[in-house]
Amino acid sequence: MLTLTFLGVGSAFAKRNFQSNALVEAWSEGPHRQAAPDDTLLIDFGSTGPLALHQLRSRPGFEYLDSEGRISYPAIRRVFITHLHSDHVGGLEELAIMSRYFFAEAANGQGRRPQLIAAEEVIERLWENCLKGGLGAHHAGLAQLTDYFDVLPLHPEDPGGPDRFTMLGRYEFVPFPTHHIQVQHPYDWPSYGLTIHDRAADESVLYSADTRFDYEGLGGMMQEAKLIFHEVQLEEQPDPVHALLSELRTLPPDIRRKTLLYHYSDAWDSALYSFVAAEFAGFAQPQHRYTLFADA
Ligand SMILES: [Zn+2]
Ligand SMILES: [Zn+2]
Repeated sequence: MLTLTFLGVGSAFAKRNFQSNALVEAWSEGPHRQAAPDDTLLIDFGSTGPLALHQLRSRPGFEYLDSEGRISYPAIRRVFITHLHSDHVGGLEELAIMSRYFFAEAANGQGRRPQLIAAEEVIERLWENCLKGGLGAHHAGLAQLTDYFDVLPLHPEDPGGPDRFTMLGRYEFVPFPTHHIQVQHPYDWPSYGLTIHDRAADESVLYSADTRFDYEGLGGMMQEAKLIFHEVQLEEQPDPVHALLSELRTLPPDIRRKTLLYHYSDAWDSALYSFVAAEFAGFAQPQHRYTLFADA
């Protein structure tokens, strides 16, 4: 079984919800039979990620994320980073330091290195432009990204690969480029969404990550997916870098009905947006465990 729980469903600047980061849990038997999943993966870990995870660890079913009142960082085995905005990477410094130092004894004093997965160009920029300032030195000298993480660089859409990763050998995660920030041309700033495929059931789920409305690019994957998590911007804006709700309303009805919207602003419960429940699968709920694939 594979489950997904949003730490938060908010936009970068939302204050009523935490930012849109998600915890994916892979289970050999399922949450009703296991106290903890076999494997865990965060999709992004932004500035509000640590606070959101701290809240989640006190919810029923997530006790394994708790260690004497703190976040049990060793419970987070892997992190996939979609792109470099701080609502997606701002929590990594805490994750790195807590894993390496606070929970060092859990791994015989060696520290525990979570796996860090991203497209190679995201990984390079993540270290040089985001993390090196805080993590590039410690009490014993200079440090590298690999001192904190077991790094898995991916080469999306490159047959030379690796272009994907799996959980439990059954659930396949395939990144695809998204049309989010554009410097000069579409797709020229590294940003990736994910399709998640259950090899046993031959079903897929689409996780858009941050993207403009891009039915031309994503339409085929949307049609194939049994469930879609799509980012949304509620407010109209000329030349947006997110998918406007008004644009997503133009999707075919069968696609809208299997689409849960996330990455939304604090205005979601205004009467202006009451049609979302009828036209889409709805707004994604924070800290609710969604089943992506049940056991066959
Ligand atoms: Zn974002
Ligand atoms: Zn973004």
